[in-house]
Amino acid sequence: MMRAIRIRDVGGPDVLEPTDIDPPKPGDNDVLVEVSAAGVNYIDTYQRSGLYPVATPFVPGIEGAGTVRAVGSGVDGLAAGDRVVWKNALGSYAEHVVVPAHEAIPIPENVSDELAAALLLQGMTAHYLAVSTYPVQPGDWVIVHAAAGGVGLLLTQIAKLRGGHVLATVSTAEKAELATAAGADAIASYEDFAARATELTGGAGVACVYDGVGQATFQDSLEALRIRGTLALFGAASGPVPPVDPQTLNAKGSLFLTRPTLAHYTRDDDELRWRAHDLLRWAGDGTLDVRIGGRYPLAEARRAHEDLEGRKTTGKLLLLPA
Ligand code: NDP
Repeated sequence: MMRAIRIRDVGGPDVLEPTDIDPPKPGDNDVLVEVSAAGVNYIDTYQRSGLYPVATPFVPGIEGAGTVRAVGSGVDGLAAGDRVVWKNALGSYAEHVVVPAHEAIPIPENVSDELAAALLLQGMTAHYLAVSTYPVQPGDWVIVHAAAGGVGLLLTQIAKLRGGHVLATVSTAEKAELATAAGADAIASYEDFAARATELTGGAGVACVYDGVGQATFQDSLEALRIRGTLALFGAASGPVPPVDPQTLNAKGSLFLTRPTLAHYTRDDDELRWRAHDLLRWAGDGTLDVRIGGRYPLAEARRAHEDLEGRKTTGKLLLLPA
C-alpha cells in the first residue's frame, strides 16, 4: 500500500482525503516514480472543484519530482535510480506515481528534486508566455498580474531577462517586496494598474498583459494595452471571464486576445525539452531564483489548497510525502 490523497467527489479543499491505496502499475511506455516532492498548482484546485472535469475518484496533482523505481518494457533512455521531473502525470499527490516516459525529464546534478518540482510547470508557463505567446522585446512595458505567485515571480524574471520593463500587481506589501526583488520596475494594486500603465508609458499603454487572475482584472487589462497590444489570458484565479464581444478589441485599439495553455506550447518532445532544459539550466546556474513559499506534508494537501485559494501564499507550494 502507499499513502496518497484521494478525491471521491469534487468540492472544496475538504475533499482532499489522505488514504492508503495500492500503488499504480506502469504500462509499457511508462515509468513508476517514487515521489520526493509534488508541485501544487492552481489547476489542481480547478480539478478538485470540478471547474475542469476529471472522472472520480482520482488522485490529484500533475507535477512532481522523484526517483524512477521501475520502467515499462518499451522505455528507452531511463532506468531505475534516475531522478526525473514531470508536469503532466495525474496522481502526483502520492508516494508513487506512473509517469509517461516521454514526460519524465532527467534532473541535472546541480538541481535538487525540490527545486525541479518547484520550477517545471509554472516555469514552463512563464517561459512560453514571455518567449512565445507575446515575446517580450527589449524596452517593452508589460504587466504581470499576481507577480508574487508561482507563475508571477518566474514570469517577472524571464520578462526582465528579455529586456522588458515589468509593472507588477500584488495584494500586499510583502508581495510587493518579493515582486520588486524578482525585478519588477513598478508595482500597482488591482484597482489602479491601468492608470499606472498609462502613466508609465506616456499614455501609450503596455505591449502585453499576462493575466492569470481573470474575472477581476480582465476589463482593466484591456484598458491598459497599447494599440495592437496583446492580452494573454492564461488563468482564472478570481473566476472565469464572461463572454467577450470581438468588437471590443477593435474599439480599444486592434487588440489581440489569446487564451493559451501549456499543453499547446509543449506540443512535441522537442518543444517540451527545449523549454525544460532552458529552465533547469537557469535554475542550476542561478539565473532564475525559484522561491519555495511553502512545504507541506502530503497529508496536509487540504491546508495547501486553502492557503493557495486564500491568497496567503507566495512562490511555489510543495507537498512532501516523507
Ligand atoms: P499563484 O501562486 O499565482 O496564486 C494565485 C494568485 O492569484 C494569488 O496568490 C493572488 O495573488 C492572485 N489572485 C488575485 N485575485 C485572486 C482571487 N480572487 N482569488 C485567488 N487568488 C487571486 O498560482 P499559480 O502560479 O499556480 O497560477 C497562477 C495562474 O496561472 C492561475 O490562474 C493558473 O490557473 C494559471 N496557469 C495557467 C497555465 C496555462 O498554461 N494556461 C499553466 C499554469 C498556471 P495576490 O494576493 O497578489 O492577488
